[in-house]
Amino acid sequence: MATFVQVVLDLTALAFAGLGVGAVVEWYRQRGRAAAMLALSLSLLGVVAILGRVETLTGSSPWIGAITLIAFLGCGYFVLLFRDAFVPLRAREQWGARALFVVACVIGIGLVTVLSRAPVPVLTAATLLVVLAWGVFIGEPIVRFWIASSGLPAVQRIRMRTLSFGFGGLVLVVLVAAIGGTAIQSPAWTIVIQLVALAMVPVIYVSFSPPTLLRNIWRMGETSKLREAIQDLLIFSPDPGVLTEQAVGWAIRLLGAQASFIVDPGGKIMARRNVSESAIADILKRRTGQAMGSSPDGATVLIAPLPLSEGNGYIGVIAGPFTPLFGSDEISQLQGYATSVAAGIERTRVTERMATIEKHKSQFLNLASHELRGPMTVIRGYGSMMQSGMFGQLNERGRKAAEVMMAKITEMNGMIEQMIEAARLEDDSLMIKPQDADLRDIVRAAADRVRPLLDESHHLKVQVPNRAVPVKVDVERVQTIVSNLIDNAVKYSPSGGEVTVSVTGRGGLGRVVVKDGGVGIAPADMSTLFTRFGRVANPKTDHLPGTGLGLYLGRQLARLHGGDITVDSVAGEGSTFTLHLPALERTRAVREAQAVT
Ligand code: ADP
Repeated sequence: MATFVQVVLDLTALAFAGLGVGAVVEWYRQRGRAAAMLALSLSLLGVVAILGRVETLTGSSPWIGAITLIAFLGCGYFVLLFRDAFVPLRAREQWGARALFVVACVIGIGLVTVLSRAPVPVLTAATLLVVLAWGVFIGEPIVRFWIASSGLPAVQRIRMRTLSFGFGGLVLVVLVAAIGGTAIQSPAWTIVIQLVALAMVPVIYVSFSPPTLLRNIWRMGETSKLREAIQDLLIFSPDPGVLTEQAVGWAIRLLGAQASFIVDPGGKIMARRNVSESAIADILKRRTGQAMGSSPDGATVLIAPLPLSEGNGYIGVIAGPFTPLFGSDEISQLQGYATSVAAGIERTRVTERMATIEKHKSQFLNLASHELRGPMTVIRGYGSMMQSGMFGQLNERGRKAAEVMMAKITEMNGMIEQMIEAARLEDDSLMIKPQDADLRDIVRAAADRVRPLLDESHHLKVQVPNRAVPVKVDVERVQTIVSNLIDNAVKYSPSGGEVTVSVTGRGGLGRVVVKDGGVGIAPADMSTLFTRFGRVANPKTDHLPGTGLGLYLGRQLARLHGGDITVDSVAGEGSTFTLHLPALERTRAVREAQAVT
């Protein structure tokens, strides 16, 4: 049993010494203040463990005892400084910690020298004070890390918690050993305590140098969420600014880094987080063409090219105190991410360009329609004066020409009015003025508007019910919608035929159905009908004038009234367009019902 206890003690001492060496190697790779503090703390812990074993071989000496105690307290003190690298201590706390360290060291040295023969209560009190100081140095960071870890990405969170857990285990071991005193000096107890301490070694080790496999396992739960979020970011971001701004945030999360930046091919910073402009300039200057570089303060930086259409930009991530060591998997991860971000930036640029074109189109529509209106009014005025003989009597050919001219002026006027309405709709200045009316009258008036334009091959039939169909609508606009539907029915029946317009008022809805036997519309073309400037290509009707605005406006106006326009058509056989409007009966019925309740 005794030899087994010795083996376990040796093993634990060796493991802690190894842990110290591991932490120093890690500091050598990463540098930085935090890594240095952790390396100091863990190597001092290794020193304590080794000196403990040396003492059993050489017998106890005050010198070894004093060094062990200082190393033990130093181990705790540097854990506190390690914490200070993440969450800085206030000046008062720093002074307090220093004072406590010095007092505890003095008492500790006293314990193994002048106080070694003091009465037991004094010894116990002094020992407890030293252990308590150590417990404060380590206990405070344990709690702090645990709390601070909650908002962090998975890898950093688990690393911080693992570290807290590992140090927590050590505190427990030391407290049990200190408080238990002679009561737990049996071989069995020693083995249990040593094994618990030994178990903390790998726990602490993985917290500062987690292997790739562990990092991937820790990241697993977050990866799919991360992927979805990144996908959303790339697909839905409205402009390159928002996209790059969020992309640097996700790069930090993805790689568990401290900071990130994106620069365009011209070296202009597109977005940055937790890193200054001058530091980015410095990083780019130091670039060697390798994926791995370093920042001015020595932190590791990963840089991947951002393949944009005008050349390569760069995305960079900078390691922080708790960043896992960057390796080949992080490099390929960042490269894949950079490609997606570049595709996203290109997409937002196209969207932006489209939005600009769309804006210019609206501006042009607005400007052109308003500018055309004035001259058109003058031309129309002179045309009708000419027609009425104010400038002298026209001969037969002149009268015919004036008639055609007036018809064309009316047609153009209609187009200009449509453009003005569309422009109003786009800048939200289109107002409807609803008033009580009979849908039958509106439809009759609309048909009368179109009738003069009919030729002999077309026959227009209007069917209205005997009872009024009361509606509350903008009469002028609904008349325009219906006359446009009738006009289309005639226009897109180039070989002539009958156009039927029927009005119904049933089930709380007023309906106007315009049916023709014309060219019809193929299912594939249905989606363009109601779009702005949407016209269907058809060799039979391509020569006909039109703006492609009529149905777009008609539907928007109908919707402003709480209604809609629907279509039913078979290519080559004809179309049926239906205007739906909420009838007044419905509105009244609802209002009355509300008044009763
Ligand atoms: P426009 O008639 O000025 O081109 P509209 O917005 O009124 O614009 O109509 C859009 C397109 O829908 C037309 O170009 C035409 O191709 C198609 N269309 C409209 N009404 C009919 C119809 N009754 N029959 C067949 N096609 C139609």
